Amino acid sequence: MPVDDYAETDEYAVAETERLLGRERRVEDQDENTLRPTRWADYFGQTKVKDNLQVFIEAARQRGEALDHVLLYGPPGLGKTTLAGIIANELGVHLRITTGPAIEKPGDLAAILTNLTERDVLFIDEIHRLNRSVEEILYPAMEDYALDIMIGKGPSARSIRLDLPHFTLIGATTRAGLLTAPLRDRFGMINRLELYSSEEIGQILQRDAAILNIGLDASGRAVIAERSRGTPRIAIRLLKRMRDFAQVRGTGVINAEIADFGLKALEIDARGLDATDRRLLRNMVEMFGGGPVGLDTLAATTGEDPVTIEDVYEPFLMQIGFLAKTPRGRVLTRLGWEHLGLPCPAQYERKLKGLGTALRGTETHDFSDGEQLQLEIDP
Ligand code: ADP
Repeated sequence: MPVDDYAETDEYAVAETERLLGRERRVEDQDENTLRPTRWADYFGQTKVKDNLQVFIEAARQRGEALDHVLLYGPPGLGKTTLAGIIANELGVHLRITTGPAIEKPGDLAAILTNLTERDVLFIDEIHRLNRSVEEILYPAMEDYALDIMIGKGPSARSIRLDLPHFTLIGATTRAGLLTAPLRDRFGMINRLELYSSEEIGQILQRDAAILNIGLDASGRAVIAERSRGTPRIAIRLLKRMRDFAQVRGTGVINAEIADFGLKALEIDARGLDATDRRLLRNMVEMFGGGPVGLDTLAATTGEDPVTIEDVYEPFLMQIGFLAKTPRGRVLTRLGWEHLGLPCPAQYERKLKGLGTALRGTETHDFSDGEQLQLEIDP
């Protein structure tokens, strides 16, 4: 897939592309296609999604029918496009890839849909960015495999209905909440992709290092996996950067020492946080005493776009339990304070307890006095 398909000009993409740890696709990710797994055996992690899909694919295959439409959501770089490829491969059909913003007019979508063959898979990335008039064409296409076209203008205009091949739409988005309800309702399966564990990222690194012929030992693999923010795209990018460090500063093989040296040089700390993450956490302490602080206020003081903060920084900071969401705003957790090398003030902990609410991101919050707060996970 040409990288240009992903070229965007909005602030979100620009902010993302500037960061080494950004999850959006960058020019240096071009050879991702050679690494993209095409079979289940090479697609690590995401067990729940994988197990379900395998059942539905098998059932559709046995009945000779098209697979029901699938929505995949989760942060960029977690393997949504890859999953669409595997699904098409398993179904033995073609895969057509496009993105929401690339389909500008209803006619563009009509052209794509009429070119599909029976049971083909159409993958629309960033489906939440589809234009409203295009989205409306998609409803009957998804539901009845039909296309309603207006012919002529004014009083003589009439609508004709074209039959489409039975196809499977796979939509991908960073957040399911960004989709309109009528569109969301037309998906038979809605799957959320999770950030990967370090072990799973380690498996991906092992496979990719072998394909790219990069020397990587177990210790080096562990260091990179630990600092990849649970995201395969970032892991692959760091692997390639560390290869350069190993070649120029080491023996050619990436071990823990070289990985540690290289990641430090790139200002990526032991937990995989980069300078921007740390600035965000520090701002929370210095300007808001740790929180709670609203998303927009936080965005304004860090100079980032609120969408970027919500889609890119927060999921990982919440996963590692540095940041939590309360109805009154974002709060830094004790772990977050400690990561900055600061003691979490007792008064602040009392304030957190006083919020008496569900913090989001971790299941329990351990207070330094041994007390624990049970947290609800807000999906
Ligand atoms: P997304 O579409 O969610 O942005 P991609 O499918 O493009 O993410 O994944 C980025 C890269 O990460 C792929 O090229 C692939 O090599 C790798 N990757 C993603 N998920 C997995 C996985 N589960 N197992 C192995 N490699 C993966």
